Amino acid sequence: MRYTSTRGQAEQKDFSGVLLAGLAADGGLYMPLSWPQFSTADLRALRGLPYPELAARVLAPFVGECVKFADLQAMCRRAYAGFSHKATTPLVQLDTNVYALELFHGPTLAFKDMALQLVGHLFEHVLAERGEKIRIVGATSGDTGSAAIEAVANRKNIDITILHPEGKTSEVQRRQMTTVKADNVLNIAVDGNFDDCQDLVKAMFADTEFRAEMNLSAVNSINFARIAAQIPYYVYAALNLGAPEREVAVSVPTGNFGNILAAWAAHKMGVPIKHFIVASNRNDILTRFLEANDMSVHGVTPSLSPSMDIGISSNFERLLFEFLGRDAALTAKTMADFRTSGKMSVAEPVWRAITKDFTGFRRSDEETLAEIARLYRESGYLADPHSVIGIAAARELGPVGVPVIAAATAHPAKFPDAIEKAVGVRPPLPAHLADLYQRNEKFIRAPNDLAAIEACVRNFANRNT
Ligand SMILES: *Cc1c(COP(=O)(O)O)cnc(C)c1O
Repeated sequence: MRYTSTRGQAEQKDFSGVLLAGLAADGGLYMPLSWPQFSTADLRALRGLPYPELAARVLAPFVGECVKFADLQAMCRRAYAGFSHKATTPLVQLDTNVYALELFHGPTLAFKDMALQLVGHLFEHVLAERGEKIRIVGATSGDTGSAAIEAVANRKNIDITILHPEGKTSEVQRRQMTTVKADNVLNIAVDGNFDDCQDLVKAMFADTEFRAEMNLSAVNSINFARIAAQIPYYVYAALNLGAPEREVAVSVPTGNFGNILAAWAAHKMGVPIKHFIVASNRNDILTRFLEANDMSVHGVTPSLSPSMDIGISSNFERLLFEFLGRDAALTAKTMADFRTSGKMSVAEPVWRAITKDFTGFRRSDEETLAEIARLYRESGYLADPHSVIGIAAARELGPVGVPVIAAATAHPAKFPDAIEKAVGVRPPLPAHLADLYQRNEKFIRAPNDLAAIEACVRNFANRNT
């Protein structure tokens, strides 16, 4: 499989190339040249397989020649072995046609583990083959940092540095990052906010000399390997609800548009997913676009579902590219105009085609708390403030008679304050994290200053010399 940039000016790459590059050199995002096709018979053959086996078969055409199938299979087994549920991604029925697809049974209790646990193995495999070493740097406001650290802790050819804004993540989130015992992990608490951390990371990547010296790499959600690794659970869930003989729909709490894009990819590959519901909080740029063909940037307001607090959804560019008939020049121009004007609308027929498949939905913080309470009352199910918006959307907007897969993206124990406020119950942490508050933390502090942060990363890289 070869991959092409949505903006058409970067060289095509194979899977390993895309994995290591992340963003394309022209600023675009990598997409497979064509979507692998699974016939009805192919899909039936996947039914009943354990999740890691199914994942390996769904991913094989994306990985192509880059990794031998037996190796891919072994990596999928290892990636999901540490999950705390035998089914890896169990489906829980909540209403006649609403099913929660629980994606939070990994080490950090959020769906980011689904992709990152596997991507950690893929990185190590490809780097060992090439005899290379990389340094991952990233900024986090919460979930991504811990999932990335868990994914690469103790891997030989990778160092990871995560910047977090000191005092501005939840204690659970910070401890999930700072208590990991691995000598390839450096946590830096920055005297600033999340935007400062993100700007520092961008500045490190823009410092070409430093970037080359450190062989910097990123693991953000624009990496196609992460999207690919999120496709199998939609295949798995659809098969369990009767596909390929029966149509299903999906509802996804959405931030950067990566998770729902993976569901759409499953549909392009032959899984009969009939409709896509984009669930958002008050940061609703996508819902506004789907309602009125107006994607205008309003800035970000903090909410009870912080992982959906985004101003721009980066992965939407991939969907745009597809709905513009894979016209890379037009995609590049549309994105350039969006960047300068802070606004985007698409041609009427394009918008109509998108809204035929996708519907937007939003809930304020007050409504989110009310939905948590209602779901608990009606079905005895505790959902976190992200997942519950997707579940509410599934109930309200699901097509009649069609089972809706509502992606449950975080464990409720990750957001105990919101849950307690809504229903008066404090969900306990699962056993593997029960002693999180007693573990020793390890991190360093640094000012919001590029030279200081670069010095920390460099010292860390040279720690054994
Ligand atoms: C990252 C995240 C999301 C948003 O996923 P995208 O792929 O960015 O749309 C939703 N919920 C939780 C809990 C997350 O961690």
